[in-house]
Amino acid sequence: MTRSFVHDTLGQRIRFATGDAAGALAAEVEELGAQRVLVLAAPSESALAGRITDGLPVARVHDEVAMHVPVAVAELARAVATEVDADLVVSVGGGSTTGLAKAVALTSGLPVVAVPTTYAGSEATDVWGLTQDGRKTTGSDPRVLPRCVVYDASLTTSLPVDLSVTSGLNALAHCVDSLWAPRADPINAALATEGARVLARALPAVVADGQDLEAREELLYAAYLSAVAFASAGSGLHHKICHVLGGLRDLPHAPTHAVVLPHVLALNAPAAPDAEARLAEAFGSATALGGLAALRERVDAPRSLGALGLEEEHLPAAVEAVLEVAPPSNPVPVTRPVLEQLLRRALEGSEPS
Ligand code: NAD
Repeated sequence: MTRSFVHDTLGQRIRFATGDAAGALAAEVEELGAQRVLVLAAPSESALAGRITDGLPVARVHDEVAMHVPVAVAELARAVATEVDADLVVSVGGGSTTGLAKAVALTSGLPVVAVPTTYAGSEATDVWGLTQDGRKTTGSDPRVLPRCVVYDASLTTSLPVDLSVTSGLNALAHCVDSLWAPRADPINAALATEGARVLARALPAVVADGQDLEAREELLYAAYLSAVAFASAGSGLHHKICHVLGGLRDLPHAPTHAVVLPHVLALNAPAAPDAEARLAEAFGSATALGGLAALRERVDAPRSLGALGLEEEHLPAAVEAVLEVAPPSNPVPVTRPVLEQLLRRALEGSEPS
């Protein structure tokens, strides 16, 4: 078999330091020679951020963070960075906080060190997102890729189990969508497959015991792999759908991914035999869809977009917006009837088919 593809690998340092985020951060700040650190952390993560940034040269802690990075929230953080003359941004939190750091880096070029506390994976991508007037705009830019990521699983034991489940399924969605995204290739497929295998094992373990540090560490490892695969492969149909829904109705990011994923898998798997085989094996199941269904059952995943705030009347606008951005690389042609059915099933919480 001959292989022909072009693959970019993003340059970034990863520090796995379970129980020692403070030490890893201090080492990184010293290496970067930073003297005026802007720390971004939402109020619920501020105690945690205080603990791990205690010995750093912190110029300001800024806590105005919001999901999907509204432009006004980004502008405020940018103004604070300018006001304190920051030379480094450290984000401590989930994808919303990392996203805010990226928004600052996008216009200032400031380096970012990310300390993730969920499994969203934004820290390992060069993708930024901003929201204004019900539309989410995303783009990729090397300036927003964090220079370094510090992974400390002990910071994630406080993440409630239901949020851990949806966040883990967000990571799984990166893996699955990477298998048919526009720049899918054998390298990102290998990362995605390993990510899916680890997630399928570690998520039920965290549901059984939210304090299981080893399982939490596995989830961070898988979240990183999933995000690297996603950054390289690009957004497939699943991500396009979730971005549209997130911008349109401000739906919660991770639960939206958790609900939509099986519907996109049901649509695409029959026309994507390599993805089907990889995922079935990763789930240890006869079929990819059966494996995902069993996992979702074990972790009690959310099922309906209706329960997240989407209503029937929003469907036509969502369908039209997804049609505009659906990737031509999708294994199944994305037509209006296909999308209408998929979104209606996800809205109602019907079985994927
Ligand atoms: P989030 O960052 O909004 O966090 C969800 C909730 O969990 C928040 O209330 C937060 O305060 C809380 N939380 C976070 N860590 C916690 C902890 N350790 N303990 C207790 N509570 C904790 O949500 P998210 O799902 O992590 O990120 C979603 C955002 O990330 C979206 O805006 C999405 O677009 C973006 N995202 C971007 C990329 C990318 O590549 N650019 C990838 C994935 C997600």
